[in-house]
Amino acid sequence: MTDILPSGSTIGILGGGQLGRMLAMAAARLGYKTHVYEPGAAPAADVAHAWTQAGYDDLDALRGFAEACDVITFEFENIPADALDVLSGTTPLYPDRRALEVSQDRMIEKSFLRDLGLETAPFSAVTSDIRADLKQSGVPAILKTRRFGYDGKGQARVMQMDEAEAALASLNGAPAIAEGFVNFSAEISVIAARGKDGSVAAYDPGENVHVDGILSTTTLPAQIPASLRTDAVLIASRILNALDYVGVMGVELFVTPNGLVVNEIAPRVHNSGHWTQAGCAVDQFEQHIRAITGWPLGDGSRHANVVMENLIGEGVDLAPSLAAEPGVQVHLYGKAETRAGRKMGHINRVTGAA
Ligand code: AMP
Repeated sequence: MTDILPSGSTIGILGGGQLGRMLAMAAARLGYKTHVYEPGAAPAADVAHAWTQAGYDDLDALRGFAEACDVITFEFENIPADALDVLSGTTPLYPDRRALEVSQDRMIEKSFLRDLGLETAPFSAVTSDIRADLKQSGVPAILKTRRFGYDGKGQARVMQMDEAEAALASLNGAPAIAEGFVNFSAEISVIAARGKDGSVAAYDPGENVHVDGILSTTTLPAQIPASLRTDAVLIASRILNALDYVGVMGVELFVTPNGLVVNEIAPRVHNSGHWTQAGCAVDQFEQHIRAITGWPLGDGSRHANVVMENLIGEGVDLAPSLAAEPGVQVHLYGKAETRAGRKMGHINRVTGAA
């Protein structure tokens, strides 16, 4: 058994959004303080012990933050390398840099997955000869920027070859990859955790529906055969072990007639894991805090069928009427301003016993 971080210790969280907020609340339940680092508005800071409001290029602020923390984690993956140098040179960082380096860059990520023997979409780096690149990936394809893409941003579809140049131009010269279209029947994701002792606990895969590139719902159980459920968990476990990972990870997969294809990994708690708050004794946020502080992992088994629905933009106005429905748990993120496309909260609707 690894040592458990003592009660009252401080966990640093890079990023102050809703994921950081729910991590901070889970940390508090286990007796920890949290210190949020976020340059902008920070819903997480409302429930944290301390907040450093500074940029990721402010190396003095980063050093001060690291010195104030006993362990550091993050709620998003685009942390600049210079910031990571300062942080990880001072205080333990979980998950570690390797996981970030793999997931920050779609080309490195896809190559890592392929080298593990896992199925991915056919892909190629985008060069100045976009038509040659698309011959490798196949058409239709999606061009995706290698870095800084999220919620469908930084992507352009190429349905036929003569759209190639326009799609490339829309990325404004950002380094990109071309991904052949995967003909999937469903999108699922597995949320899995690995502890410092190498133990792994995975949650049941959920089935995800996106609207306008943003996650709309996650439904448990996913309507897939039991064999694919097992495959999904095995794939996630292989990825965690290969990275010697500590913490929670989200693994997004496509369901195809030939089995599962890995779309992407997120080295953090994940929107498609929010259902665990109503479906499991230990949710993904507590699981992550347990993993990075040396607590035994929760077993991840599911006691309820759950549908998670994101409350996006003005959808948040439905919260009071949803709250009146039986079996509905409401989570609001306390964001000051409602904007179209912005995740304002979510609900977990328990639809029965598992
Ligand atoms: P991503 O940002 O990679 O998660 O992509 C956002 C969404 O675009 C995914 O959830 C899928 O619905 C769709 N998508 C991404 N890559 C592919 C692909 N290679 N083939 C088909 N659909 C895709």
